[in-house]
This record gives sequence, structure tokens and C-alpha cells, in this order.
Amino acid sequence: MAEFRIEVRQFLAANARLRTGDESDWSRNVASTDEVVAADFRRRCHEWQKILYDNGWAGLAWPESFGGRGLTPAHQIVFGQEMAEFDVTSGFLTAAQALVGPTLMAHGTPEQQERYLAPLLSGEESWCQLFSEPGAGSDLASIATRAVLDGDEYVVNGQKVWTSSAQYADFGILIARTDPDAPKHGGITYFIVDMNSPGIDVRPLVQAQGVAHFNEVFLSDVRIPADNMVGPLGGGWKVTKTTLRSESSMISGASQSTGYPTVIATARRTGAVNDPVMRQKLAQVYSDERILKWMGWRTQTAVMQGRYELALHGSLLKNFFTNALTHRVELGLEMEGAEGMLLHEAEGDGFWQYQCLNQFAPKIGGGTEQVHKNNVSEQVLGLPRELLEDRDMPWIETRRS
Ligand SMILES: Cc1cc2nc3c(=O)[nH]c(=O)nc-3n(C[C@H](O)[C@H](O)[C@H](O)COP(=O)(O)OP(=O)(O)OC[C@H]3O[C@@H](n4cnc5c(N)ncnc54)[C@H](O)[C@@H]3O)c2cc1C
Repeated sequence: MAEFRIEVRQFLAANARLRTGDESDWSRNVASTDEVVAADFRRRCHEWQKILYDNGWAGLAWPESFGGRGLTPAHQIVFGQEMAEFDVTSGFLTAAQALVGPTLMAHGTPEQQERYLAPLLSGEESWCQLFSEPGAGSDLASIATRAVLDGDEYVVNGQKVWTSSAQYADFGILIARTDPDAPKHGGITYFIVDMNSPGIDVRPLVQAQGVAHFNEVFLSDVRIPADNMVGPLGGGWKVTKTTLRSESSMISGASQSTGYPTVIATARRTGAVNDPVMRQKLAQVYSDERILKWMGWRTQTAVMQGRYELALHGSLLKNFFTNALTHRVELGLEMEGAEGMLLHEAEGDGFWQYQCLNQFAPKIGGGTEQVHKNNVSEQVLGLPRELLEDRDMPWIETRRS
């Protein structure tokens, strides 16, 4: 593994610049209010992914038969550790690969795998996840979007929401209800949808930061070839669980980033380093950062040694990460004092102000904090499962918002 690490470093040093770890980090541009800056971010993500792909560094743990390197998760971890030191990211393309790749490898037909996996890995085609709906988020199996067979196509009607990057996506993974009389988990089917199909209306949702990270997506008589079904008719929940599991490991794997250099820079600039109360809070935030890092290392070491039973539950990691982020952001704003009330006029084009508004995204996306607490109570502490009285009831008879 040491040799592999050296090889990774050499590749990165030749192709990327070291990260400074402060607010100059361009990866924040994903949500820039300036469309030119945001478009530049997307371009750089595509470029970086292409560099990885062309040099054999994309899909390290994907099987070779699907265009990957066929290495182990440990190799992927080492690559991630080294890449974290550099000012590069594949951004939203990484998320799409983590969600779509394992799902198609596990449940797609050979034709689907042949058609979609390579352009997914090279970043040539981008994807979005059309799961959540206005009445189905945490309780995803309640989805109401309908798909009805007509000849050799399904006709889809419904609404999705919070669909990240749908405005740039070429394809979407979509779940829809094909049998309303089956219990809610049983009547769902999983599809691939071409986002340029007639009847798809993508409407960006503008967030408090003034940017549109996600969208509402309206589907009106959208025709999807039956060949685009992933997994069996009515068997979409099992496929969905594959996607959600990959999403969870992606999120917990990414939960280590530290923002401490920026905290210290703000403390020095504002004089907070000399204030005893602020110093206590700085120590608290520093402790969070160290604990988070160690939690991540513990999980990574467990994976690298194949001792998965020692890995921390992803929900623990995610909730610790999002709470650490909140402590950091609150301290950043407190140190700035009155300046903390400004937006772009504040230091670093309103770095802490942006982080403050953005902290809720990871707390909700990929499962809310409360749902992850439920996971911990059931899967780590072994407490009784939540009561779901509508589990076996036909979906059509369930109470829905
Ligand atoms: C940044 C971001 C990106 C996202 N991207 C996508 C995407 O690309 N595609 C997609 O399909 N979705 C996406 N989502 C949607 C996300 O998956 C949902 O927002 C999330 O699952 C919560 O669902 P909801 O918003 O409907 O809230 P609800 O499920 O309605 O929850 C409302 C409140 O009730 C609480 N609650 C609900 N059920 C329970 C329970 N059983 N026990 C305790 N408390 C509970 C929740 O914790 C929350 O506080 C994204 C969300 C965010 C924030």
C-alpha cells in the first residue's frame, strides 16, 4: 500500500495544486451566486474527472469489467486521503457516480451497464436522483409519482423535489409507483430517465444563499422505454436501497473535512485568540475536529484491514460531522461580531455567512439528523424498531400528506 500511496502522490503532484485549507478554496464555488463562477466550477469538475479517467484513477474500486481498476476500498481510501491535500474535486459528478454506479452494477441489465457506466465514470454524462417528493422524504416509500405501462413504454406523471443538479443532468434515476394496490414498499419500480425527454420541467429552487443547488422536477406524461427499467417491475425498493446505502457510505466517507485553519485565521484577524472565553470555544471546535478525524481514521482502518465490525456506523459519523460544522460556524460568526451580520461585505466574501446558511444542507440531505438518530438507536443500540402501522397496507389506503 505504501508503494501505491507514492504512486498516487506522484500523479497528484504532477496534475494538481496543493490545497491551502482556507477560504480561497474554490470548491465553495459550487453554490456561487455568480453563474459564471458556478459554470466555471462545473467545468473544472468535468476536467478533473476526465484527467482521473484518462489516467486510470477513476473508479479505483470498480471491477475492471465495468471500466474500473478492480482495486480494493482500501486503495480508494488512500487515494481520497491524498487527494484531500490538493485543490481539486469532481464535485457533483462524484455523488452521481457513487449513487448510480453501484446500483447499475448490481441491478442493471448488461445493455444498461454497457451504455451508461463508462460515460458516468468519465464524467461525460451527469446524473440526478429523482427520489424525494413533496410528500415523501424520510418516508421515501410513500412516493406518489405514477408510472403506467402503455405499449413498450411507461408513462410517468408526478412531482419530485430537492433534486440536486437536475438542471445540468443528462439522466436521472427515478422511482415511481407502478402498483398502487401493493403495500407501499412493494409497488415501486426503478427507472433510468433521459432528462431531455418531453414532459420534464426542471424548476430551480433558490435557497437562502441566493443559489439554486436543487430543483423541483415536474413530470407530465413523460415516456420512458420499458427497457430503462432497473431491476424487476415492482422490485424498485430493493434497487433503491442499494442507491441509498451507497449514498450513506459516500456521505460518511466525506465527513472528515476540517475547516480549522479558517477558524484560526478568523480568530487571529478578529483578535479572538486573545479572549479567554473565545479560546475555550476554539478549543472545543478543535476537539470536534480531532475527534472527527479519529472517527474517520478508525472507520478507514477497519475497512483497510477488512475488519468491518470495527467501523463506526455511518449515522454516527454523519451526525457528529454536521454538529461539528454547526459549532464551527457559530464560533466563526461570534468571532466576527457585528461583521457577522453582513453577507458579501464580510471577510472572504461572507465566508462564515455562507457556511451558516449552508450548514442545513448536510443536516437534511442524505437523511435528516433525526432519521440518523433512529438508525443509531435501532442498529447500534439495538432498541426496538419504529412502529410502521402502514407497512403491510395497500399504498392506496395509506395516509399521505
Ligand atoms: C442539500 C440537499 C440535497 C438533496 N438532494 C436530493 C436529491 O438529489 N434527490 C432527492 O431525491 N432528494 C434530495 N434531497 C432530499 C432529502 O433526501 C430529503 O430532504 C430528506 O430525506 C428529508 O425529507 P423531507 O425534506 O421530505 O423531510 P421530512 O421527511 O418531511 O421530515 C420533516 C421533519 O420530520 C422529521 N422526521 C421525519 N420522519 C421522522 C422519523 N421517522 N423519526 C424522527 N423524525 C422524523 C425529520 O427529521 C425532519 O425534521 C436533498 C436534500 C438536501 C437538503
